[in-house]
Amino acid sequence: MRKRSAALPALLILLLFVSRAFCAAGEELPAYKNDEEKRIYACGSGGKYLALTFDDGPHPVYTDRILKTLKKYGVRATFFVIGENVGYYPGVLERVLADGHAIGSHTFSHRHVSSVSRAQFFEEYRKNDRLLRSFGVETKLFRPPEGVCDAKVQALSARFDCDIILWSVDTEDWRSPPVYKIVRAVLDRVQGGEIILMHDYVSGESHTAAALEIILPELLSRGFEFVTVGELIGRTASERQ
Ligand SMILES: [Zn+2]
Repeated sequence: MRKRSAALPALLILLLFVSRAFCAAGEELPAYKNDEEKRIYACGSGGKYLALTFDDGPHPVYTDRILKTLKKYGVRATFFVIGENVGYYPGVLERVLADGHAIGSHTFSHRHVSSVSRAQFFEEYRKNDRLLRSFGVETKLFRPPEGVCDAKVQALSARFDCDIILWSVDTEDWRSPPVYKIVRAVLDRVQGGEIILMHDYVSGESHTAAALEIILPELLSRGFEFVTVGELIGRTASERQ
């Protein structure tokens, strides 16, 4: 019994030391979780910074709702747009740009990586890139449809020198969950440095803007600052969007 009570404090001290060592290592994680393959999920040294990202737009209704909410709280985000939707709703993209948000590419028509050849996949990227350039946008941020990161995506990243941007917090808002689920998905997980996945184009009803009305003031009051993905991963504005 006496032996046990002596061992317990020693064990606690050891646990404390180990957990502190892990925390310290966590703080020193590089921006790229996997440098070699250029996949970026989050910025380990992100401190108080967070990056909100919106996929699949622009959308004639949902994007504007989100823009309005972001503007209300003075928050900037990164929109991973689909070329086809830019073609349908160019005015919405103009508003995204006018509000100072960053743009990433999400391919021209959101075809699944496995359903196209390597040449077709590259063309999906090129076509969207050309379209975005016609709006004065040059971006090296690329998010593959559904976050698939296979050899084709790796090859594209090498060929076009773009960063593959994934995420560390998934709100699954494309499934049209109730507002509280989107809110919890974010508030329960953020610690700093996260890339948060949301959508400004969903096929059902979107509750994303309503969730942001709760998420943004809460995180701002906790001292977090919202930045674009390019800023989060340490790219300068001239290098990256
Ligand atoms: Zn998508």
